[in-house]
Amino acid sequence: MRTMNVIKSLTIVISGLSLVFQIDGQSVLSESRHYKLEKLADGVYAAIHNNQGGYAICNAGIVDLGDKTIVIDPFMSPSAARDLKQDAEYLTGKTVSLVLNLDLHSDHNRGNQAFYPGADIISTPNARKYIETNFEKELEENKNSVPEELKEIQKQLLKASLSEKVELTLIEDLYKAIMESLPELKMTLPNITVSDTLIIYGSKRRLIVIPTGTGHTNGDMVTYLPDDNIIFMSDQLFVKCHPYFGDGDPESWEENLRKLIALNPEIAVPGHGSVGDINSLYAMIDYIETLTDLVKREIKAGSDENKVMNIPIPEKFSDYLLSNFHKINLRFLYRKLALEKSGFND
Ligand SMILES: [Zn+2]
Repeated sequence: MRTMNVIKSLTIVISGLSLVFQIDGQSVLSESRHYKLEKLADGVYAAIHNNQGGYAICNAGIVDLGDKTIVIDPFMSPSAARDLKQDAEYLTGKTVSLVLNLDLHSDHNRGNQAFYPGADIISTPNARKYIETNFEKELEENKNSVPEELKEIQKQLLKASLSEKVELTLIEDLYKAIMESLPELKMTLPNITVSDTLIIYGSKRRLIVIPTGTGHTNGDMVTYLPDDNIIFMSDQLFVKCHPYFGDGDPESWEENLRKLIALNPEIAVPGHGSVGDINSLYAMIDYIETLTDLVKREIKAGSDENKVMNIPIPEKFSDYLLSNFHKINLRFLYRKLALEKSGFND
């Protein structure tokens, strides 16, 4: 679904599924309600999740290689992915022939089905395995729990303060996106896996796919455009949002970030949050280090898990969104670090 901008005089042409406006003789694609497109360079776009009513949930990318159009992380909901496909084809004048799944979590790849058949889908072997193992299970869980969870969030929204509303609306949109997509979701697995650096040479630019080993999860990749100095980080970068530690290893995640900083990227597109730069990667390292140090200090002082779970959000991250990840991250760090301290892992 798309929202229309209010424009004084225009002609509307329905071509296939697209809604194309003719303004002063020029074709302009209507804006998707799910995300905002940002042009990063000629032929390179970030599609940033719309925090107010969008069903994209994660950020995506569109890259025109000249002779090939590539989409990165095609969102959580197929309806948002269909808008992305239209936009990609409109902006580049080519059908999308390749989709990259940089993150194994479903908010980044349930939109795969909008590109099948027609496009190849690439991920790491671990990401493919994860989707294959978890897709149906998560779908069942969603069917059983999301209707009630949505009602609960909507109840909370009625009595929420303005600042609480921002976060609760994010969660409400997530649940609504899931509810809307449940009847049509079909597992669409990557059909190509890569374990090592992959370079795709296009007629206009090169695109480098870099599997990064364990970090945010054990199946992450990033995509780097060396000719433009742009990196698509997926969930190894959250900008002004709490990251999610639950499925990975923050220590090696930090190592990955340091290696990627060595590329000296000018623009860094995160999995969640607005478009950032190299400083966003440093901020991500700071988040990992700050939280790890806080938990280590508590463990050293003999604190148990309950005490660790009460560590407040550090002041410098107090305006970050996705604050429900804070406690998940504390618990994850406590369990990992306490186990290491006990010598169990030696
Ligand atoms: Zn993720």
